[in-house]
Amino acid sequence: MQCKQFKKCGACRFQLDEYERQLAYKQNALNNLLSPFGKVNNIIPMENPFNYRNKVQSAFYFDRKRNKTVSGVYQSNSKSITPIDFCALDDKKADEIILNIRKLADDFKLKPYDIRNKTGFLRHILIRKGFKTGEFMVVIVSATPVFPARNNFVKALLSKHPEITTIVHNINPSETNLMLGEQSKTLYGKGYIEDILCGCRFRISPASFYQVNPVQTEILYNTAIEYAELTGKEAVFDAYCGTGTIGIIASKKSKQVLGVELNEKAVKDAISNAKQNNIDNIYFIEADATELINDLAKQKEHFDVVFLDPPRAGASKEFLSSLLKLKPKKIVYVSCNPKTLARDLKTLTKAYRVNKIQGVDMFPFTEHVECVVNMSKE
Ligand code: SAH
Repeated sequence: MQCKQFKKCGACRFQLDEYERQLAYKQNALNNLLSPFGKVNNIIPMENPFNYRNKVQSAFYFDRKRNKTVSGVYQSNSKSITPIDFCALDDKKADEIILNIRKLADDFKLKPYDIRNKTGFLRHILIRKGFKTGEFMVVIVSATPVFPARNNFVKALLSKHPEITTIVHNINPSETNLMLGEQSKTLYGKGYIEDILCGCRFRISPASFYQVNPVQTEILYNTAIEYAELTGKEAVFDAYCGTGTIGIIASKKSKQVLGVELNEKAVKDAISNAKQNNIDNIYFIEADATELINDLAKQKEHFDVVFLDPPRAGASKEFLSSLLKLKPKKIVYVSCNPKTLARDLKTLTKAYRVNKIQGVDMFPFTEHVECVVNMSKE
């Protein structure tokens, strides 16, 4: 199967009939970068590598020639939108909901926002799905606050899609590339959805960070937890913890967990996630991970295991040097960028031995690959 919009959309690096070739490519990239540090296991593929995305977003414009509203994705580095009806990576139901919103927008005369003339209303639709709970959130992003015929629109959408559990109206008048604005109003339901990962329940708000491939995320997190070899006695540090997922799953098998995260909203979600799962041995600090680990190292705090899951840029030099001073018995590095991982391993292997390196294919058909590394003190 080949994707028609492959070239124009630009999100995928491989065509849809190239899964094997893609795995070989990713394995080769991991081997080249990481084999100097230890044996690289075979990448864990996705059993059914389609329709895995639990988060789908679409931009809207009005096609004057066809006299109707169209939706799709922004071409990279461009303001033009490639129309897309279905994407082989998206949750199928999410794509269906977006198609129906397009039709409803025309029925209700909700004009898409025109960025050049600054007219119109509808900018984006964001759909998020709780993979295990089956809950659906629809976020309608508009440029202006007044939502014409709002209640009837909501009613019509719900009657077409009773699986939707919450609808949020987000207002984004800014000219930035950010999809969501500051202001949100819940039009239906709780304003968030929940999902279950590794036996824990997590709240997903419109702007929360949550991995987009829940099937492979469970494999990734299980690998990270297995690598930590927790017995229930450990003091654990979860750096770059996001909404607390890894730390919360680990807390069930550790004595105590401390999580650090820079994003204020993610920390709030992390705290409520811990409460929701009745976990009382985890603490979260909103701070820069480097500043916090510097303090922890100065105060000679003791940790048995450190998880780190930094953004694509990897960890800072200073973070790594404080991590070496902290001297945990084990380090479990979860990385979404093997290049910065290799750079950081160079520093860490001054005092740590790399035991295992495991790639997980979290983003089939795109060029991205996730990796978990198990390290112990020399
Ligand atoms: N472990 C989480 C999140 C990983 S994404 C999960 O699996 O879901 C990386 C996280 O690092 C993001 O939540 C981002 O907000 C956070 N982050 C980025 N820079 C940071 C910094 N300097 N200090 C602390 N957290 C940071």
